[in-house]
Amino acid sequence: MITIIGCGPAGAFAGLNIAKQGAEDVVIYEEHQEIGKPVQCTGLLSEAINPLFKPPKKCIKNTIKYARIIGPNKKAVRVRFKTPNVVIDRTLFDQSVAHVAEKKGARIVTGVRLHARKGQDIQLLETRTKKLQTVKFSKLIGADGPNSTTAHLFGLYKNHENLIGLQGTYKVKDLTDIEFFPHIGEYAWAVPEGDGNARIGIAAPTSTAKRLFDDFIRQYTKQHISNPTTIKPTTFKPPRPSQPIKPLAMQNGMIPKWNPKIPVSDKQYRVLLVGDAASQVKNTTGGGIVQSMTAAKALSESILSGKNYTSSLRKLNLDLYLHYRLNKMFNKFSDHDWNRLVETARKDSLAKALGDTGRDSIIKLLAKFALKEPNLIRYASKIF
Ligand SMILES: Cc1cc2nc3c(=O)[nH]c(=O)nc-3n(C[C@H](O)[C@H](O)[C@H](O)COP(=O)(O)OP(=O)(O)OC[C@H]3O[C@@H](n4cnc5c(N)ncnc54)[C@H](O)[C@@H]3O)c2cc1C
Repeated sequence: MITIIGCGPAGAFAGLNIAKQGAEDVVIYEEHQEIGKPVQCTGLLSEAINPLFKPPKKCIKNTIKYARIIGPNKKAVRVRFKTPNVVIDRTLFDQSVAHVAEKKGARIVTGVRLHARKGQDIQLLETRTKKLQTVKFSKLIGADGPNSTTAHLFGLYKNHENLIGLQGTYKVKDLTDIEFFPHIGEYAWAVPEGDGNARIGIAAPTSTAKRLFDDFIRQYTKQHISNPTTIKPTTFKPPRPSQPIKPLAMQNGMIPKWNPKIPVSDKQYRVLLVGDAASQVKNTTGGGIVQSMTAAKALSESILSGKNYTSSLRKLNLDLYLHYRLNKMFNKFSDHDWNRLVETARKDSLAKALGDTGRDSIIKLLAKFALKEPNLIRYASKIF
């Protein structure tokens, strides 16, 4: 029996891919009663999701054609996506993946949490009745998020580092583009979700996240973006000066930072980690849905073919490694460096280049421009 802990995108998609081959019995345990809740995500997806799991129409809340990368001096470069990005309803998306997994033959049990380890077995806790049961497994897949109990119980929670993602939903006027602020915290964003609402947030280390989020929201509401030729100011309903703006909803969650030392399995490949549990997230943007599902597919293929999971992850890991190094470089940038970088990008035909390659490549292209800029070239050694 293949036992999966957690029914987020990673767990459900691993279950789906293993079950559809029909060779193994699969059971997924999810601690919450309802799949996809609570939501801790902006739900922004590039077209890279489509070959994995095309989001059903009912999950799509908004379709976005442009992004603006905004520097500390509020100047921005506007880029057009070749294929629009989508903003999804995460609850409906997670439920859709789980539904297909069930149709393919995976069994999903909700309201059951991985609680403890008993030698080679695990102990599960039924959250309502508090009943404990001991379960044997042939393989255990930890798809249980950034603070993975599976990883903790099996000695795999090593070298992990998590950021805090703080996000509020606010009423906005005229926001149609994604706005990305690579210099605030580790990064910050405003993403229109449709119906005049936007998901506005920041990722930063725990010690600074709340202060940076409050500052960002305060600044954002003033909208100091200063280039009317490329930027249409996005405006909140102006607040009275002393009145703090209240979000319609607030979410926070951990965002793992990937690094090459994080283990993804035990030595016997009996306990395996996937998704946020293995920190499979891009360090420059916090994008983890495509990455966790890519890893889930690699994991299921490795289980079914007997291939080594680590080598199945080679392509994904190369990409995660690039974002890991770029994040290290970007963390050294001063405000002045960011302004120069955005300025360089504005002068060039970057917008077209980005449009041709999609959101997942924005960061890589920004890096290329950083390397063209004489004042920023000193950081190049930090990439590789
Ligand atoms: C504020 C914020 C914004 C984000 N925005 C984006 C974005 O726009 N685009 C993007 O691609 N990514 C985004 N991410 C990252 C993305 O949400 C994650 O990378 C993605 O959810 C990873 O999927 P997962 O299945 O690995 O983990 P999760 O989605 O966390 O799923 C883990 C599941 O395991 C369950 N679980 C946990 N512990 C146990 C246990 N002991 N027993 C049983 N079940 C358990 C949980 O209830 C949960 O359902 C964002 C993250 C945050 C915090």
